[in-house]
Amino acid sequence: MNMVKWVVAFMVIEETFGIVCWFCSWQVTLFFLSDLKNSSMADSVGTRLYSCFKCQNHLARHDDIVSKNFQSRSGRAFLFSHVMNIVLGPKQERQLITGLHTIVDVYCNDCGEILGWKYEKAYEESQRYKEGKFILEKYKIDMEN
Ligand SMILES: [Zn+2]
Repeated sequence: MNMVKWVVAFMVIEETFGIVCWFCSWQVTLFFLSDLKNSSMADSVGTRLYSCFKCQNHLARHDDIVSKNFQSRSGRAFLFSHVMNIVLGPKQERQLITGLHTIVDVYCNDCGEILGWKYEKAYEESQRYKEGKFILEKYKIDMEN
């Protein structure tokens, strides 16, 4: 990062005295290029979406995955901090492997397919981090790029 300070210092000197250094303009171009590269990479990761396997309705962003290591009765499931374009069912108490929880079922708001559930309340202290988060079953979602 010292390099950056030096370049900035040179640029200030150039600005002040009206001189142009080839090295600085080259550095500036490199910085712009790396910025451009980073931001386009961030964009492509940020826009990776999961959608409904039946109707391709967008459901969640890859960035909102909290954990990929959840298990449901039908197989693997992902825990998300946010999901969209869904409808919630009525609250119900459910005894899960990790204890008693109040959950609501999660449905696609387009095709009505049941996709997973939302944790409304966890009774075990160690499970509280799941409250307000969503489980989507892996086989019910497709990843888009
Ligand atoms: Zn759907």
